[in-house]
Amino acid sequence: MRQVSGQAKYRRVLLKLSGEGLMGDQEFGLEPGAMERIALEVQTVQNSGVEICLVIGGGNIFRGLSGMAAGLERSSADHMGMLATVINALGMQSILEKIGIQTRVLSAIPMATVCEPYIRRRAMRHLEKGRVVIFAAGTGNPYFTTDTAAALRAAEMNCDALLKGTQVDGVYSADPKNNPDAERYDELSYKDVLTQDLKVMDASAISLARENKIPILVFSIHAPGAFADVTMGRGRSTIIKEAAES
Ligand code: UDP
Repeated sequence: MRQVSGQAKYRRVLLKLSGEGLMGDQEFGLEPGAMERIALEVQTVQNSGVEICLVIGGGNIFRGLSGMAAGLERSSADHMGMLATVINALGMQSILEKIGIQTRVLSAIPMATVCEPYIRRRAMRHLEKGRVVIFAAGTGNPYFTTDTAAALRAAEMNCDALLKGTQVDGVYSADPKNNPDAERYDELSYKDVLTQDLKVMDASAISLARENKIPILVFSIHAPGAFADVTMGRGRSTIIKEAAES
């Protein structure tokens, strides 16, 4: 296990980013500037000794339930979505390595000549060696999302926290971009998120995190320093965890 700086609250975290996060101001695809900003945030956290897993969505390229997929058989469309996450993972790997961060991409759909297949023990070893591990191709199964993949890998890797880097600084009662009256929460229970159907992560991801007692922290991936702050237990985020017993 690597040495964690006195300040870090979590020893090992999984950062989930939506594909949108890599898109910058574009409508589609990847924007190297946006990816580089994220890579620098990852570097800061890594330098504090925290082990980092990454799960990146594919929505900036293809979503199984999108209009683009209309008319396609659902499983095929979802396979296409999972392949989109591999494109993002390889792109992020390239940008991270450019700034000197060692990474490995492990895909839930084996692609021997492109990246490693997902093998839990191998992923653990990479983390122990200080490499950033990027889990690609979601869960490898259609009808799931990369949110669920993130909760699954966080549980398998014994992560101390699941960090969701979003476009806004936490969970709101409604979309704050469309609704100025939306209320922001500092803290929620897993049950609150499920019963109020708050749009944070899908229900299977929340349930998986709950069963495995993994706190979820939602923060803005665009706020400089926010990722590092969250790993140190400070900064602006919404924490989702089990409600304290009364
Ligand atoms: N997907 C899937 N199984 C998984 C993960 C993802 O079938 O385990 C497909 C699904 O079609 C999804 C697409 O991959 O729409 C892209 O993932 P997601 O929508 O979670 O990306 P994000 O919204 O985070 O960018």
